[in-house]
Amino acid sequence: MKTVTPSDSDDHKQSSTKRHWKIGGSTPPRAVTWLTWPILFTFNIGLAMRAIMQHGNYSSVLTTLLITDVVVLVTLESLFPVQRQWKMTWRSIRRDLKYIVAGGATFAVIDGVFGLASIRLNTGHVGPITNWPLYLSVPVALLVVEFLNYWQHRWSHELSGSLGSFLWRSHAAHHLPEQVYVLMHPASHPINGFVVRGLVTLLPLYYLGASPETVLLFSTIVTFQALISHCNVDIRAGWFNYVFVGTELHRFHHSASLSESKNYAVTLSFLDIIFGTFYYRPGSLPERLGVVDPSAYPNSNEFWQVMRLPFEGELEQGFSIAPVADLR
Ligand SMILES: [Zn+2]
Repeated sequence: MKTVTPSDSDDHKQSSTKRHWKIGGSTPPRAVTWLTWPILFTFNIGLAMRAIMQHGNYSSVLTTLLITDVVVLVTLESLFPVQRQWKMTWRSIRRDLKYIVAGGATFAVIDGVFGLASIRLNTGHVGPITNWPLYLSVPVALLVVEFLNYWQHRWSHELSGSLGSFLWRSHAAHHLPEQVYVLMHPASHPINGFVVRGLVTLLPLYYLGASPETVLLFSTIVTFQALISHCNVDIRAGWFNYVFVGTELHRFHHSASLSESKNYAVTLSFLDIIFGTFYYRPGSLPERLGVVDPSAYPNSNEFWQVMRLPFEGELEQGFSIAPVADLR
């Protein structure tokens, strides 16, 4: 098992990163830092389980959870931004709305909407895990989808050649913003949305025969983790970071420094531990978010140029424009 750990030569960078945080951000009460993740996680799972036991309307439960999570997390971001320059602004949300609308055209705009589609599709469909108890079917569904998603995501960043180039230029839209906050999460290219939510999620769930109950719990966990992992608040999950991709881990995936932008898993962080791409530095922040060389890309506000990027870019690979030493 190999994990990425800070080297001695990074000490100076780490101390300057911490200093940067104190200057530019806000420190929330300890209860917000340490209790937001466990309380919201328990609330999400609890409401989904109650709907299953009471044979409720799964679609409305997913919608309720999505709205509740967004309202709580966006409110916390406005009160306690970990970095003020990463805050959502009217200009940035106008940009994000374009991507949200574009994503909607492909059925992959946000995980909540995906979950609704998947529940409808899987109702009545039978496969290997259809009749398994939920304590087995949900972990198996998460493992299969996360494994596939981990590799498509890692290949999107690291694969060379024409396929790697195409995958990166389709995924780059999610990395062009130099902020990370809850509502920038859907900012992505529709092609990337199709790959993530269609090919490596919807299809496997369908062929596994995931029941609507399994899809409900699966979508509850994946949606919640996707939202909170982009939250611009000092939210910590402690040892749960070794199981789930928390805020502290995914923020580093958006780092403009290649030595930090690991953590390719979206929900289950132990896949990064197994495959040697785990990056966890409690109490520190990336110095800069976005891509290594922004001048090589259109600005994230240039929506149509970003949409054309997969078809006309000359980039061999997303990060290959960095110095070779930085690729290690
Ligand atoms: Zn990525």
